Amino acid sequence: MSTPRDSVVRVGLLFPELLGTYGDGGNAVILVQRLRWRGLDAELVEIAAGTTVPETCDLYLLGGGEDAPQTEAARELGTDGPLHRAVARGAVVLAVCAGMQIVGRSFPGGSGRTETGLGLLDCVTVKTDEPRAVGELLVTPDAAFADLGRLTGFENHGGRTRLGPGARPLGRVVAGVGNGDGTEGVTTADEADGRVVGTYLHGPVLARNPALADALLAWVVGAPLDPLDDTDADALRAERFRAVEQGNLDGVAHRTWRDRLLRRN
Ligand code: GLN
Repeated sequence: MSTPRDSVVRVGLLFPELLGTYGDGGNAVILVQRLRWRGLDAELVEIAAGTTVPETCDLYLLGGGEDAPQTEAARELGTDGPLHRAVARGAVVLAVCAGMQIVGRSFPGGSGRTETGLGLLDCVTVKTDEPRAVGELLVTPDAAFADLGRLTGFENHGGRTRLGPGARPLGRVVAGVGNGDGTEGVTTADEADGRVVGTYLHGPVLARNPALADALLAWVVGAPLDPLDDTDADALRAERFRAVEQGNLDGVAHRTWRDRLLRRN
């Protein structure tokens, strides 16, 4: 437990001006609000690029961004900086898309060069010949994360992420691309190496998957949290699951129609 419960939980949103392209800043709002709904004190700390990164937050968030700003963010955070020290003393990190790429070992930068990542996750991100992954992403969690239920979101990235032996994915891709090898997300294989979770899911991911928000908060608080009324989020999830299902069915229907036409000609 990184914070005594009689004090405020500090949620640090890193570099929103560099890593704010995909609305992932909403994850910070959700975490703070879910704590407040339970009567716990929480503070959202916006950490601007170019300022000193505080080491005292309980949870840090990095969002998606374009190749050049993400390179700048990685250079600012370095390979042995305040975020590393915070993780070493038990702080939790949620890193989305560009955020996940930069907390890995390396990633493609704005100039096309391979950039050094923070090394908090054992993964590398590369560019391939495959087209940019854009669209809904639906994931079945691996056994270790089964409590999270299916994970839903959207993805928009050119990079593909390969996991090393010190990492494990969150789950398997049902629809979409994710890491690019059938898996999605990256976390440490051993929690002793840090409580760092990466994902390609935008949405924001914690709006679409409140169980993931509560799993991160349970790490911070040191105990499972009381359930909340998630009726609205459940309705959104059901609608998004249906949309993916219908999208797939449409795709099949479209292919069948096209195949029939081709056979006829
Ligand atoms: N720039 C990265 C890529 O295209 C990340 C994009 C994102 O954060 N959505 O792979």
